[in-house]
Amino acid sequence: MAKKDYYEVLGVNKSATDEELKKAYRKLAKKYHPDANPDNKKEAEAKFKEINEAYETLSNPQKRRMYDQFGPDGPQGFGGGAGGPFGGGYYSYSSSGFDGFSDFGDLGDIFSSFFGGGGRTSRQQTKGPKKGADLNLNLEITFEEAFLGVEKEIVITRPETCDICHGTGAKPGTTVTKCPTCNGTGTVRQVQNTILGQMQTTRTCTACHGTGEIIKEPCDYCKGKGTVRKQPRIKVKIPAGIDDNQTVVLRGEGEPGEKGGPKGDLYITVRIKRSSIYSRQGTTVMCEVPITITQATLGANLKIPMVDGSAETFTIPEGTQTGTKFTIRERGFKSLNSNARGNFVFTVIVQTPKRLNKEQRELLEKLARTMNEQPPIKKKGIFG
Ligand SMILES: [Zn+2]
Ligand SMILES: [Zn+2]
Repeated sequence: MAKKDYYEVLGVNKSATDEELKKAYRKLAKKYHPDANPDNKKEAEAKFKEINEAYETLSNPQKRRMYDQFGPDGPQGFGGGAGGPFGGGYYSYSSSGFDGFSDFGDLGDIFSSFFGGGGRTSRQQTKGPKKGADLNLNLEITFEEAFLGVEKEIVITRPETCDICHGTGAKPGTTVTKCPTCNGTGTVRQVQNTILGQMQTTRTCTACHGTGEIIKEPCDYCKGKGTVRKQPRIKVKIPAGIDDNQTVVLRGEGEPGEKGGPKGDLYITVRIKRSSIYSRQGTTVMCEVPITITQATLGANLKIPMVDGSAETFTIPEGTQTGTKFTIRERGFKSLNSNARGNFVFTVIVQTPKRLNKEQRELLEKLARTMNEQPPIKKKGIFG
């Protein structure tokens, strides 16, 4: 639905002064107030909203300039999306409830970064508490530690609230005053010339760096920052069964929040060192077990080393071929999501002896004579 021209709605011309706008608005608002029109409340309400919408925009110099430049739909292609930059507060007519423009500060930032108008300003939230930044780090553990679970003590570097000033940045006994440059808001308005004409933008106040406060006497310990860098030791519990590249989150172990906001979180990405013995696929542990030709031929009781350091006795049958896989149930990794445990799968590798002593050689030669000297390939007819 196309929006009506706000100047038309209020019945004023484009050069109307603030006073003229106000006068026109008052007259129309009185006339179309829903309570004053009990007989055709619906139409009156619609009209009343329209008038409010128009006045809300045109009575604010910044919004009026935007409106004059871009029309009622606002600038296109700047991430306006549903409702656009003018969205939100339009359809409310409690005169105090208009907050649809509260994000003009952000829009200003978008413009300034688009048009290079004097450097990018970070989108700082200047009012109210803000969650502290999250921290990320990698932690290397062994295959066995991942299997059993482990508690590690790590040392991280992070800013922490200053103990002396309790984060205010002011020397104890001195006070923090409202920043006179921005009147405590943390932002200042600025008119700048862009290719689209003159724009009023909001930027972070340089006098107080967006905090809205001026510290007269900074805290000696943190030099007024309110935080000091510390290297706390933190205990991290790595659950049994964790896989490579999985992350453990420690809530509240990140950087401190601003203005009493909650602390950020600490994300620990676990890297598992390769094992020289075992490998893994999900919760399954895999390994290779070398066996002798006699064990393979006659069968054997093998002692298989488990990841936790214990051993399982496993009987392989006579005539076991190299490469055969055997499964020991539920001796693999614990599942992180359930109490289930994976299996332990080992592959036997038959080792052909490279050096034989005299006795062994004689025995094998004796054995060879008892066996068919021709290889069984003949049966398949390759030489036939
Ligand atoms: Zn301090
Ligand atoms: Zn300021």
